[in-house]
Amino acid sequence: MKVSYENNAIKSGGFDFGVISINDPWNSERIAYYDGIIIDGVNDDFVRNLVVRIRSHHRSEVYLKPIFLLKNVSIKDPIINELIDGVVFSLDQVEFVVERTKDISLKVKEILEVKSLSFEAEMINKTINLLVTRDKKQMQAFPYIRSGIGYFYPELSINFAREDESNVLKILEMGEDDGLFTSSFNDRLYLCTNCNGGFLNYREVCPQCSSSHSTTEDMVHHFPCAYIGPMKDFQNTIDDELNCPKCNKTLRHIGVDYDKPSELHTCQKCNHKYQDYHVRAKCISCHHDNYIENLIPKEIKNYTLTRKGRSVAYNGYVSTTRDFDEVPGTVKYDVFKIMLKYEIERLRQNDYTSNIGFMHLANAGEIYSRLGLERQKSLIAEMIGILRHNLRSADFIAFYDASTLVLSLNEIPTKIANKILNDIASLTISLMKRNFKTVEVQIKTNAIKLTTEISHELQLQNLVRTIDRTPQNIEKDSEENE
Ligand SMILES: [Zn+2]
Ligand SMILES: [Zn+2]
Ligand SMILES: [Zn+2]
Repeated sequence: MKVSYENNAIKSGGFDFGVISINDPWNSERIAYYDGIIIDGVNDDFVRNLVVRIRSHHRSEVYLKPIFLLKNVSIKDPIINELIDGVVFSLDQVEFVVERTKDISLKVKEILEVKSLSFEAEMINKTINLLVTRDKKQMQAFPYIRSGIGYFYPELSINFAREDESNVLKILEMGEDDGLFTSSFNDRLYLCTNCNGGFLNYREVCPQCSSSHSTTEDMVHHFPCAYIGPMKDFQNTIDDELNCPKCNKTLRHIGVDYDKPSELHTCQKCNHKYQDYHVRAKCISCHHDNYIENLIPKEIKNYTLTRKGRSVAYNGYVSTTRDFDEVPGTVKYDVFKIMLKYEIERLRQNDYTSNIGFMHLANAGEIYSRLGLERQKSLIAEMIGILRHNLRSADFIAFYDASTLVLSLNEIPTKIANKILNDIASLTISLMKRNFKTVEVQIKTNAIKLTTEISHELQLQNLVRTIDRTPQNIEKDSEENE
């Protein structure tokens, strides 16, 4: 096979490979440009950091790129070993990775790219795309010193900063609930209550002052006189003989005339003497000294991609069902469509006006990833609360997707419907400002008149199509609401 090498690039079998060395600056455009990347593996840290940057990138042209390692030594690191696609020992061997590059490139072409609307969904999407393009079904948890929780799922954990890594476990649980993975037990893990970190130092501490600085000595029980006291009460400065301080007899054999029933600890900080210590777990990351009974228990599992999980790669995964299931005050989208159909039937026999509208969070992705799952849920619950409060009970609401609510506004003129939505948006924006200070919510609303001319499906599509050209709602009357 013909190989040519110039300008840090090498051509083989119709593919262009970029060779990246330790002195090359990071350039995602360059990574995206080549068919495959060869990392000059001179240094473990350099290789690891580059693999992390590529695999955690948000663009599929970058994070799905075939990566090969040019090296002469073996590197023991799950990040590197699990996330590269092969090894060459010299640039002459590039032809050996051409087949692999071709295979991955074809699979990457089949991936459907979608813009996931929740952060969790985006992470699941990326992970599955990486697995499927590598023909992998298993995702194993590796014990790993560089992981913030001590266990690492290379394809997923790579996207998280050390301090956020416990989110990986929540996302995998969500994926399993949605039927994308099945799981098997790997290990049990305890996390810090303060920072969710997994590196804990367990030790025995004084029950009075929690100091771990203590000395320990045996307690001695002399059978003939029943005296119990610390070993030093029996010792003398001259020889090894033990004498009972109560009856003065010499102790002979352990088990025969005396035994050591327990230990006595003396705190070197507060001088408290105790037999039963407490156990605390100090977090190496945030230094919080945890009561062990409060530690957060987690099961570490190994995951296997299901058929449904594989299909995510070809159909895209926009939102996890957990994001929107069981939000009180809403109906499922399928139910919404049926109710809409009935409303159109009713319109045929009446001459009032009914409408459908949307309320769209223009910066949902940003908000959701900034808030984290729990606060994201409470934001959604608050929004629904405001809507429910301002709509009549006969009007119904459903999630169209992670950032868009659709609703019915029946038996009112379209102009009034739009005014109601506008007012609700303004109210929501100012309430959100108060409760979620770090995020600015951007909302778009629109209502259109229902007609009996075209199907409910088509009218919903028409409505959703107006999202892009609807201007953002501004908080015009914030003073009124304050
Ligand atoms: Zn901690
Ligand atoms: Zn103490
Ligand atoms: Zn005695």
